[in-house]
Amino acid sequence: MDLVDQGLMLPLMEEFYTIQGEGYHKGTAAYFIRVGGCDVGCHWCDVKESWDAEKHPPTPITSIIENAAKFSDTIVVTGGEPLTWDMGPLTDGLRSKKLKTHIETSGAYPLTGEWDWICLSPKKVKPPVGDIHAKAHELKVIVYNKHDFQFAEEHAQQVGKDCILYLQPEWSVRDKVTPMIVDYVMQHPKWRVSLQTHKYLNIP
Ligand code: SF4
Repeated sequence: MDLVDQGLMLPLMEEFYTIQGEGYHKGTAAYFIRVGGCDVGCHWCDVKESWDAEKHPPTPITSIIENAAKFSDTIVVTGGEPLTWDMGPLTDGLRSKKLKTHIETSGAYPLTGEWDWICLSPKKVKPPVGDIHAKAHELKVIVYNKHDFQFAEEHAQQVGKDCILYLQPEWSVRDKVTPMIVDYVMQHPKWRVSLQTHKYLNIP
């Protein structure tokens, strides 16, 4: 088994210190680790460059962890689909340095790693597996068209009672769907609006 299969190296696409733009922690500084590799295939994906893991250099998690610790006490692991890989060694290393571990995932693969915050963003083309709904702290459904409200409700029925529910416009159709989301949230106030504020701020 090679080091990537063991989660000791990961195909690192980019890492950067910025402001979390979306969901519950929006507006707060965090260090982002973007791991390459995703075969979910959302047609509107805004990080298609992440899909092919081979394009991103296998990087020892020790150096990823060391870099992260220099910048923030909150580390957001995103992708790509981070659960393509075994996240256990990465989160063990981050937590050993007392860093908080957050993940953004579609849940398309079994949950690995120990997480302080799980943002589950399910996708129609490859639905979540296992019991990640019960473990999610926030459910973030990307709204591309009106059928996505039904999809959102189906997933809201599966999460725990404390899970925070977000509807977020898909960026390329934001002008069309944001008013639909605003109306929907007023009619169904268990939901909240999430905007990609980092894109409005023009930061990564
Ligand atoms: S799961 Fe995320 S990275 Fe993968 S295709 Fe969908 S939006 Fe893109």
